[in-house]
Amino acid sequence: MSIFEYAPAPESRAVVDIKESYGLFVNGEFTPGGGASFKTVNPATEEVLAEVAEADAADVDRAVKAARKAYDKVWGPMPGRERAKYLYRIARIIQERSRELAVLESIDNGKPIKESRDVDVPTVAAHFFYYAGWADKLEHSGYGTTPIGVAGQVIPWNFPLLMLAWKVAPALACGNTVVLKPAETTPLTALLFAEICQQADLPPGVVNILTGAGETGRAIVEHPGVDKVAFTGSTEVGKAIARAVAGTDKRVTLELGGKAANIVFDDAPMDQAVEGIVNGIFFNQGHVCCAGSRLLVQESVAEEVLERLKRRMGTLRVGDPLDKNTDVGAINSAGQLARIRELSDIGEAEGAERWSAPCELPTSGYWFAPTLFTGVSQAHRIAREEIFGPVLSVLTFRTPSEAVEKANNTPYGLSAGIWTEKGSRILEVAGQLRAGVVWANTFNKFDPTSPFGGYKESGYGREGGRHGLAAYLKGGQA
Ligand code: NAD
Repeated sequence: MSIFEYAPAPESRAVVDIKESYGLFVNGEFTPGGGASFKTVNPATEEVLAEVAEADAADVDRAVKAARKAYDKVWGPMPGRERAKYLYRIARIIQERSRELAVLESIDNGKPIKESRDVDVPTVAAHFFYYAGWADKLEHSGYGTTPIGVAGQVIPWNFPLLMLAWKVAPALACGNTVVLKPAETTPLTALLFAEICQQADLPPGVVNILTGAGETGRAIVEHPGVDKVAFTGSTEVGKAIARAVAGTDKRVTLELGGKAANIVFDDAPMDQAVEGIVNGIFFNQGHVCCAGSRLLVQESVAEEVLERLKRRMGTLRVGDPLDKNTDVGAINSAGQLARIRELSDIGEAEGAERWSAPCELPTSGYWFAPTLFTGVSQAHRIAREEIFGPVLSVLTFRTPSEAVEKANNTPYGLSAGIWTEKGSRILEVAGQLRAGVVWANTFNKFDPTSPFGGYKESGYGREGGRHGLAAYLKGGQA
């Protein structure tokens, strides 16, 4: 039981209108799919929310042809300043409908409303505003002004709308058209985004949304009419995609998994560091590719940090994602919950010591209490594999070089955090970390102007900022 008691403060579900069934968004219209359908559920309650069409190969072909036609006839030839107007319009509608989008995201994904309302949706709007600004300034991008063509984009379930924005906004700004597939457990906000495209009068075929699972994703990636593949998801599927497009002319960007080190030195401001550790791993239930899932704490302060951390974890409010007080929501799916449980059990079997925050979990839905492991060694699977849940592994170090060595001892290289009072130490350590993003005295900060992406098995290519244009212009690298 939390030491604080709060009266429930539920956000209204009535602001969203969830339909019983959804078709595919192709050529500006919702159309039935030719294939099967699947159900999307609320992970906090296991309630079935809607029946959603599963796009088959013929649907993918239809969508790619619509995207090609729109690229050739309308969107490709359109001057950048005109494209910008559509992107600004989409950004403004996202702001106008932000409450609806946030509630729907929390219902379909399980994330707390305070995160979807204050982080996801504002960052989505900011992304569209930012890339709208680039559309008529591409000659200053450094990558030329020529778009690539039709982009096939496949995204995961942890930030459904935000990953959509990261993919769609730069692609459209550069003059490409898109066929996008949301993840099978979180299709609803992408379908609401399709409605927003209609509301913005976006020309038909510029954005096509195909719902479905891995097979649909594979059909998009392998379709010969797709010129560019943009994928965010697991390293395993990323490798399969890299193999599938090898030997073709398709360009590829891959944003994959991570196992970030959050490094706390003995001179770190303790209260801020503890908040940063909590934010690093429990934000979005730990379903974050750049989550600070490995805490590296300097031995001399390890005991103090752990004591404070446990006390802080005990105050996290776990429960109803639509309650405005909730800090940690539901695990996104039964499958993901099973993976988190399995790896945590392995952690214990390997000899690490498990501690979970004392909290009452709801009886239906998918839940996992905020958990940490101490006594973790580098060889343990919980220290090496991505858990993608609210589970922190704690390791200690004595010297900065040992911290760097341990932080880099991973096949991933997406992000890292450094907590210290010394600016010179931040620069010295950050320069040695093989990670695409390094935060200092903060964590999980995202801004559309700042490029994001990985090294090693975390993928290649960058999203966000000027660098994010490279993936969607012929003169770019990716
Ligand atoms: P996943 O790879 O299983 O699925 C991602 C998407 O790919 C889904 O839409 C899925 O339907 C689709 N897919 C599955 N098989 C496919 C195939 N053979 N061909 C084409 N598409 C296919 O990943 P997930 O479990 O949904 O997401 C979690 C993973 O995503 C984690 O590893 C996380 O680190 C990673 N992620 C990375 C970033 C980043 O920016 N680097 C951001 C968010 C998530």
